[in-house]
Amino acid sequence: MESNRFTDIVRYAYRYVPMYMRREAAYEKIEKWEDIPILRKEELQKNPDSSYSCEFMNAVRREDIAKMHTSGSTGKCLEFYWHKDDYARSLLPVWILRRKFYGISTNDKMCYFYTTPNGYNEINESGLRERRRYTLGFSKSDLTHERLLKIYRDITEFEPAWLFIQPSMAVLLCDIAEETGNGIPGLKYIELTGEMLTEHVRQRIKKVFGCYVANHYGSHEVNTIALECPEGHMHIVDNNILVEVIDEDTNELLPDGEEGRLLITSAVNRVSPFIRYDIGDRGRVFGKSSEYKCSCGCNMPVLELTKGRVHEYIETESGEKINAYIFVHAVEKINNAYESCIKQYKIIQTDYDRFKVKLVVDDEIEELGIDKRDIEELFRQSITHPGMEDAKYEFEYFERILQDDGKGKMLWFEKNNCELKETNE
Ligand SMILES: [Zn+2]
Repeated sequence: MESNRFTDIVRYAYRYVPMYMRREAAYEKIEKWEDIPILRKEELQKNPDSSYSCEFMNAVRREDIAKMHTSGSTGKCLEFYWHKDDYARSLLPVWILRRKFYGISTNDKMCYFYTTPNGYNEINESGLRERRRYTLGFSKSDLTHERLLKIYRDITEFEPAWLFIQPSMAVLLCDIAEETGNGIPGLKYIELTGEMLTEHVRQRIKKVFGCYVANHYGSHEVNTIALECPEGHMHIVDNNILVEVIDEDTNELLPDGEEGRLLITSAVNRVSPFIRYDIGDRGRVFGKSSEYKCSCGCNMPVLELTKGRVHEYIETESGEKINAYIFVHAVEKINNAYESCIKQYKIIQTDYDRFKVKLVVDDEIEELGIDKRDIEELFRQSITHPGMEDAKYEFEYFERILQDDGKGKMLWFEKNNCELKETNE
């Protein structure tokens, strides 16, 4: 294979990462890129201790390495590591695009929301706020109406140039902005991340805050994958990230413009290399080989994500729709508190106020001193959204939750009762 940033990381993984070192064909035997096996989440979950670079885990200062995990929207949880220098490098291309597209630079003030508090005590005020020189972050726990009003006041006083938030949080801020009649002074830009962005939500945010709104696609495993330009196209940060599209059934590479499953390769994460990684999303890519050029002037390839299910919301008896991502956040909380013990999950709404919570937990939770009742209690406590006060949860434990839509994509939230009205939105 010709040498480039992506083959360099492959060579590195085959040399230093046990999971790759054990593969049948050594790096030297790989003739072309497509011969490299696809990396699936199951394989990473099965090999929790051999998917990390031994060079890093043994030799480098451990305080430079951060352990992270994702609870993901696919219902499968994963542990991995980043070295702080790689992490910083992974953020560079998106900063260049932010500046180019929206005039935002690293010393513009920004607000965000977080699930996991940062460990540094001096910036973490009471666990509910994180303050650094240019950033102000708010914990997503305990989001009562009163606290939201307080957060909104804090944001308006801080006067951020931009917000980096999830669509569900942006919607809550829209509610408060309309209720108080106050905008956010100096706000130029809102970058939305972490959840599927619907057109309806985008238009509302734009209307309420009157600023640029752009979609950011990324994941904790590889950081930014693509950022939307002012022309509405998601440009892939192709100096760090390679996106391939493969056929669902044959795993064959698909040409430009054809829809299929996305494989992501990161050229920067050496501690936990993600190579031809099946991230669990579908979409199409334009402009890789052709002279396709976006009218924004950027010639990086464009990714079009297949619109996810907009039905990812809980429906209550009063007809209110609540974003089902509140469950993802509850799982994240449990994994932060209890040794990343949830490996897989699925939530089924069986009636307006009834939910089945299917969990796959670490075999060793007893040895770790974790009681299932504590997990269940924390799950209940974490769902604080108004309208969910009377919800009842029934917990079930499994060895494994099988993929169930016939396409290998886990549906992590389902509504499973004909009593629930079918709505067409
Ligand atoms: Zn563009």
